[in-house]
Amino acid sequence: MADQKIPQVTAKRLPLYYRYLEKLHAIGKQRVSSAALAEALQIDPATIRRDFSYLGELGKKGYGYNVNYLLQFLRDFLRQDEVTNVVLIGVGNLGTALLRYNFYRSHNTKIVAGFDIDEGKIGMDIDGVPVYSMNRLKEVLELHSVEVAILTVPVSAAQSTTDQLVNAGIRGILNFTPARLNVPSHIRIHHIDLTVELQTLIYFLKNFPTNESKGEQNG
Ligand code: NAD
Repeated sequence: MADQKIPQVTAKRLPLYYRYLEKLHAIGKQRVSSAALAEALQIDPATIRRDFSYLGELGKKGYGYNVNYLLQFLRDFLRQDEVTNVVLIGVGNLGTALLRYNFYRSHNTKIVAGFDIDEGKIGMDIDGVPVYSMNRLKEVLELHSVEVAILTVPVSAAQSTTDQLVNAGIRGILNFTPARLNVPSHIRIHHIDLTVELQTLIYFLKNFPTNESKGEQNG
């Protein structure tokens, strides 16, 4: 297996490649060029070639990539066969939507439990996912070997719930709240901020219009 130390930007793109290769595999495609991948995923072909070069000798010049081989390689690399159990804290509007979604497109990530402090929500079952009291956090995390949590509590409760998660042994937090969280250095936090994403999109549309939209604007 290639050196696992690949750049983070590359690591983030690997699941995209994996999902697309799964589709190609499903329709019986045997090989794919970096140009075709680039077109489908809207990623520069040179970036794709560079990403794959970190993984080793995966393709041949003029032939492209063998879909089966690449899929198997990425599956091993991403350990797609292993299911990662995740919990969600704060079963409100956003939390309920994420529980219902439950990453159904991915076979390897599953929200196994929700947690809340609202007595009206504790004991509920949302599309098969039970909602527990925060008092049972540690016990449920241990039962399902959970190391990753999604945080969808109000901003006012973000730091205190994070502290509880850290104490209960969580290692990674996907933070949907606007709070900047203080955590020990061994904890990894990823922030998801839809406002920032939307503003970035609008900025790009204004400043870097795509060829099609330039055409529409002109025509
Ligand atoms: P909500 O009020 O509907 O839900 C919050 C839930 O958290 C409630 O069920 C509440 O009982 C629970 N809760 C409160 N304190 C708790 C605690 N100490 N421990 C466990 N559970 C607790 O809120 P919402 O609209 O679902 O938003 C949730 C969070 O997501 C907010 O911080 C909001 O700002 C954020 N949000 C983020 C984005 C984004 O793009 N990142 C988008 C929308 C909302």
